[in-house]
Amino acid sequence: VLPDLKDKVALITGAGSGIGRAAAILLAQQGMNLCLVDLKDDRLEQTKKEIELAGGKAITVDIDISDPNSVEQAFEQAAKTLGRINFVFANAGINGVLAPIENLNSEDWDRTLNVNLKGTFLCVKHAIPHMKEKGGSIVITSSINGSRTFSGFGMTAYSASKAAQIAFAKMAALELAQYKIRVNAICPGSIKTNIGENTQPTPELDKIKIPIKYPEGSQPLEHAPGQPEQVANLVAFLASDASNHITGTELFIDGAESLL
Ligand code: NAD
Repeated sequence: VLPDLKDKVALITGAGSGIGRAAAILLAQQGMNLCLVDLKDDRLEQTKKEIELAGGKAITVDIDISDPNSVEQAFEQAAKTLGRINFVFANAGINGVLAPIENLNSEDWDRTLNVNLKGTFLCVKHAIPHMKEKGGSIVITSSINGSRTFSGFGMTAYSASKAAQIAFAKMAALELAQYKIRVNAICPGSIKTNIGENTQPTPELDKIKIPIKYPEGSQPLEHAPGQPEQVANLVAFLASDASNHITGTELFIDGAESLL
């Protein structure tokens, strides 16, 4: 479907699960060679196995994306093993600890910001040396939480990190245009993934008294959460030259959930 992706190289964070995994499988089907990045987990190896069984090529690197040296090494390993990196999907993220602001520990705030925002910064920073000669595309997974208020209780750190990712993507797009590196943020609504495993609600959430406006996960287009494969289609389009005039944007993929 996107022939220009064949034999190109992509690095994907959060590739063991959910949106990252679906994007990895779709990009491999387009003929891309992949560096799959995630925390050390069986699911990362399972993604690799699935890609190889379908005839694709992938390596895995298990790191914490909030660690600067590890991220730099992941890029070096990808380039050394697979060749020049054409596409980066800075996607790994966590909901983290959910609590009212007055009960949110600064360590928990830091963890959410470190994974979601610093991890994104590190991926873009270390992508640049591998892309600046011949250009490339970077996609950052933000969220509809990054540009609207209600998203579930106690999600201030998450929402702040997601809003900052959008601002970061826009500034990066401006700065990196000189190298023909495109940078876009995607903003999914509720998507059926394993993100709940990295969500730590606290009992204090009951203290937040706001009437819920709509049933959680409701999306006018589908009346249900979206699927990771639907987000993967947008990621593949943004990886491809088919989107070569699109940079510095925030693209919503939410079945109109953000309009409710
Ligand atoms: P997921 O939990 O299924 O997948 C996320 C992956 O990131 C996991 O495999 C996890 O191990 C990995 N990860 C977490 N912390 C990491 C770290 N420090 N270093 C390396 N890897 C790490 O969740 P998902 O829904 O696929 O999430 C992907 C992205 O989509 C996240 O940025 C999330 O904020 C965003 N998002 C999700 C939804 C949703 O409803 N699922 C909505 C909007 C945005």
